[in-house]
Amino acid sequence: MTRHVPALVIGGGISGLVCAYALRKTGIDAQLLEAAPRPGGVIQSITRDGFLLELGPQSFSSTPALRQLCAELGITNEIIEAPLHAPRYVLIDGTLRPVPLSPLAFFTSSLIDASTKWALLRDVFGKSTPPDADESIAEFTRRKFSAQLLDRLVGPFVSGVYAGDPERLSVRSTFSQLYEAEKSSGSIVRGMLRLAKTKKGPREHPTLQTFRSGTEALVRALSTNLGAAMRTNAKIIRLTKNPDASFTVQIEGEGNSDSLSAKALILAIPPDTAGRLLADLDSSFESLLGPVEFAAVAVVSLGYPKSAITHSLDGFGFLVPRSAGLRVLGTVWNSSLFPGRAPDGHALLTSFVGGTTDPAAAKLTPDNLAALVHREIASILSINPEPTFSNVTIWPRALPQFNLGHAARLAALATLLKSNPGIWLTGNYLRSPAIGSCVEQALATAEEVAKRLAQ
Ligand SMILES: Cc1cc2nc3c(=O)[nH]c(=O)nc-3n(C[C@H](O)[C@H](O)[C@H](O)COP(=O)(O)OP(=O)(O)OC[C@H]3O[C@@H](n4cnc5c(N)ncnc54)[C@H](O)[C@@H]3O)c2cc1C
Repeated sequence: MTRHVPALVIGGGISGLVCAYALRKTGIDAQLLEAAPRPGGVIQSITRDGFLLELGPQSFSSTPALRQLCAELGITNEIIEAPLHAPRYVLIDGTLRPVPLSPLAFFTSSLIDASTKWALLRDVFGKSTPPDADESIAEFTRRKFSAQLLDRLVGPFVSGVYAGDPERLSVRSTFSQLYEAEKSSGSIVRGMLRLAKTKKGPREHPTLQTFRSGTEALVRALSTNLGAAMRTNAKIIRLTKNPDASFTVQIEGEGNSDSLSAKALILAIPPDTAGRLLADLDSSFESLLGPVEFAAVAVVSLGYPKSAITHSLDGFGFLVPRSAGLRVLGTVWNSSLFPGRAPDGHALLTSFVGGTTDPAAAKLTPDNLAALVHREIASILSINPEPTFSNVTIWPRALPQFNLGHAARLAALATLLKSNPGIWLTGNYLRSPAIGSCVEQALATAEEVAKRLAQ
């Protein structure tokens, strides 16, 4: 007989884990089903040969919701922070140049030409209106500032965070605050200042954080908290609606299959899978969710004796403009940011290759990827010998792309969900892939579900 539970969360990445945790905190007996043998989705930290490796996200920006969650889970004292003022670099003409991080640094930086600085002043004192049509990040940056800013700073930043193509990413959906600032104030700077003033509480200086034992510590704490309410090796293969408006899911497990039914169904799984499962209820789910593009990314971690690296590695790492003609998108200097990432006397450097501007890269073999990354970063950082350690993880669907038309897709999804009560979607492909945003969205989803179940 099919067991019935009030709420069922499908997918045990950070989005599903947090949603199930928050529902249970309100007293709802929510169960979580995860297809893989381990929870966490793309968040994976492993230790090998004395190196602590992050196979997916290397760290996260602190947010009030994340801090609160860590406090509730009792892992606040496990948090470690990257040095607040550590410089970030961008590769310009073969040299690593510091990224200007303050208005003063921007105006005095030789990275930016006078016409771009003038464009910023024009924004501060002038008035502009965003076009009605969805605008790409590239079009936005060229319209408001300059092609140089796009090439040297905005493009590399977009590669670093989204592994995406600024010509296709929507500014409205990717950098919604910039879009809203211009729309509401006629100026990005004035709009952002106004937004900062409306925020309640003390001013936030988001820091880059992780845990002593790696980012996966958050996943472990959530899993421990969920206990028997979480089931791994439980892949949902079918979803049907029952006459009483509840849902039944067919679960494929280790050599067996069973089912569960629930009044509230929260899908915290990638959009293509969610679309396929929901197609039996309404085929529009598949046509809206299936086409969400993901960037393929290879994460290449290389270890070297520190003595082999001439560069001081003082900072976060560097980003590479596409115009530099290299395949590495950027490199994080893990062992400069957090303690315990490499054995004594060694450095751990993690590079990202691929993204939507170079989809072929993630199809290379791990050996080729390690060799390619070593070749490219060795010349930038003056590294002499081969790495003494390497680890390559290829994510064919790493990061969601909020391409042009994403806002319209979200609006259509919201309408579709209204006509399918009892179904919720949460996950990195809706609003932002950042871990902090996934947590906020999962908490908001849990709140909505709890409200509906209480009706
Ligand atoms: C290489 C890389 C680097 C990143 N760097 C950063 C960073 O520095 N900072 C940051 O904040 N974020 C970063 N991110 C983004 C962030 O890690 C992700 O956006 C976030 O972890 C996604 O969580 P999720 O739960 O939404 O999705 P996922 O982690 O994809 O979880 C979905 C889960 O659903 C499960 N599932 C799928 N199908 C089924 C099914 N049929 N039945 C049951 N379960 C199913 C999957 O097994 C998976 O566990 C990075 C991501 C990657 C890949």
